[in-house]
Amino acid sequence: MIYHDTDKDIKAVGKLLRNGEIIAIPTETVYGLAANAYDGNAVRKIFEAKRRPCDNPLIVHIADISAANEFAEPNEMFYKLAEKFMPGPITLIIPKKDNLPDEVCAGLLSVAVRYPDHPTTQKIIKAAGVPLAAPSANLSGSPSPTTAKHVIDDFGDHIPVLDAGKCRCGLESTVVSLLGGTPVLLRPGFITNEMLKKVLPNITIGQGVMEDLGNNEKPLSPGLKHRHYAPKADTTGVRGRTENAVHFINHNSGNNTIVICFDEEKNLYTAKTISYGRADNPEQLASNLFDALRKADAGHPENIFIRTPETDGIGLAVYNRLLRATGFHIIDTDTTHTEESV
Ligand code: AMP
Ligand code: MG
Repeated sequence: MIYHDTDKDIKAVGKLLRNGEIIAIPTETVYGLAANAYDGNAVRKIFEAKRRPCDNPLIVHIADISAANEFAEPNEMFYKLAEKFMPGPITLIIPKKDNLPDEVCAGLLSVAVRYPDHPTTQKIIKAAGVPLAAPSANLSGSPSPTTAKHVIDDFGDHIPVLDAGKCRCGLESTVVSLLGGTPVLLRPGFITNEMLKKVLPNITIGQGVMEDLGNNEKPLSPGLKHRHYAPKADTTGVRGRTENAVHFINHNSGNNTIVICFDEEKNLYTAKTISYGRADNPEQLASNLFDALRKADAGHPENIFIRTPETDGIGLAVYNRLLRATGFHIIDTDTTHTEESV
């Protein structure tokens, strides 16, 4: 069943959600698979549908800042960030109250809170009349959905979707933990580290954002330890200046290679290319990345090379997703001997 942003459909979707159904809904970041956050049974359906590990908590979506008080304990840092960045693509982790079912927070004592700025999402939350728990609406491990088609590609017609077109950001929200004295950036996104630093100068970047967490390390955010965004084919990230990267990729390409590259490089490769935006436009790269990963995978290549952007601003969020999509397999062609085989 496909719903649209009409008064009738929003009302119907709100009622279904309130009554314990799960529905894929648009947000400015990616499509989310939503359920009434106060209904443990409904929330369990999300984990089953996504085949999501039950130790990976969900984000609770609200339609105004004061609603956070109903199920969480906002602190001073929460209000500082909320005032500046909400509604918007940011998620803040604060202590939870007892009225939230354990399923939402995977047994943790904290909850992830987000107030999306997409007008359709706000209408749906208001129509439901309850906060909505929602992770990304993809099968666990695959790239997050940025269109209704991506949701349908993963779930067929098992899950109803409200189709409001392509998501503006295309990458999941920035996640910041506000549980200790020092705020920690757990997942980079459109609200960048540079923007956060202006409000909370002591913010630190969490372990796992830029490096692999060892198997024995306990991540601050359970989601960080799970494989994510990964195409099925063997996937390698390629960093460095165009001439070095092209030399390396062409040297290592086979008959069945796909290169996900920058627009300005697309004629330089011997293998088939999918371009995902200009190197100097990280917003565009972010917006097209997951679609490019899905398209590359649909071609059933033997291997995929992906050009990686600079790591400042929104580029850090793109790079962070590429680390996970490639299983931390990124080669810097400016420093590596480019005849090396992958
Ligand atoms: P998703 O919505 O699928 O992008 O996943 C939500 C992300 O937020 C995952 O990486 C979770 O591990 C993280 N998250 C949700 N709740 C918490 C929490 N209470 N503490 C730490 N991380 C959380
Ligand atoms: Mg996800």
